[in-house]
Amino acid sequence: MELPFSGDTVTLRPCTLLVVDEAESTLARLARALGPEDFCLRLASPGPEVGPLAREVDLVVWVARSAGEPSALEWLDKLLALEGPPGPPIVLLADRETRGVWLGALAQGIEVVFDPWDAEELRARVEKSLRTQARLTQLSNQVGELQRLSSTDGLTGVHNHRHFQERLREEFRRAQRYDDPLALILLDLDHFKQVNDRHGHTAGDGVLREVAAALQRSVRETDLVARYGGEEFAVLLPRTHLTGALSVAERVRRDLATLRVGPDGALLVTASLGVSSFPHRTVLSPEQLLLTADEALYRAKDEGRDRICLHSQMSLLPPSSSQGD
Ligand code: GH3
Ligand code: MG
Ligand code: MG
Repeated sequence: MELPFSGDTVTLRPCTLLVVDEAESTLARLARALGPEDFCLRLASPGPEVGPLAREVDLVVWVARSAGEPSALEWLDKLLALEGPPGPPIVLLADRETRGVWLGALAQGIEVVFDPWDAEELRARVEKSLRTQARLTQLSNQVGELQRLSSTDGLTGVHNHRHFQERLREEFRRAQRYDDPLALILLDLDHFKQVNDRHGHTAGDGVLREVAAALQRSVRETDLVARYGGEEFAVLLPRTHLTGALSVAERVRRDLATLRVGPDGALLVTASLGVSSFPHRTVLSPEQLLLTADEALYRAKDEGRDRICLHSQMSLLPPSSSQGD
């Protein structure tokens, strides 16, 4: 079975359907109506095991047999309310007498087919539900991709300035609430203008990409690398004290200094780094964390580049003798 839409072809063959029924009797009829070559049917009784089983199939066919089955709607509600990603679509096979169940199901957007059912109609409704689901999955993937793109720097592939600002605020709030440390490294490439002047902008762009990749390799997955702007990068280090941030900064500086970049892999780059951290008496907001790291970065430039400077009022003495560093 191929389900075409919007110029795309989504192949859903073979589909696995979970038939939820108290008896096996419907199974053979369904297999004949839907065609065993396109659909593989599994049977489950209404109950809690339907939830996990539904996660493994493409569609659920729920058989509501009689009016004396008040729990069918409850189970359907539970199935629709499952946590996590959206579950499979549901087609309800209902007797007319189960009015409360099928009206409730229709209100939830579930396809309803009445018994005695017409094989072609059943197949058409199953395919319609699968097609709608495939479309939803495709849209949800596209939304995910757009979200990824909106937080990514187009040149280097690391996070962009906007995403960094959001995460800085989030992480600062989290650090304040849970009394966790938070550190920030700001890094600016030294004399980068010369790279562009001597080798051209395209080569400069390539170097920025290589530096971003090297930065990403030098930090943990839980740390956030972002392009702050131009040839400046930020590394946000959740749950990291100043001493930890300093060793990361030193590793980053060393890794960059050993990197061979540029068109012939013959260029050397160095960077200046500024480090600041929370908690500290002068760091009471995300803006202050940023400002103090920036101030440290400027000092690293002033003092000769290719080095790391701490926010000026920070000390590396142990916390007991350092008033809260
Ligand atoms: P310093 O050591 O003081 O930081 O010197 P610098 O040359 O790195 O600093 P300056 O601020 O004078 O120049 C920054 C350079 O970074 C100039 C600019 O062309 C370059 N740059 C900024 N963004 C990009 C980019 O996206 N691509 C390329 N190729 N170059 C960029
Ligand atoms: Mg620079
Ligand atoms: Mg700069």
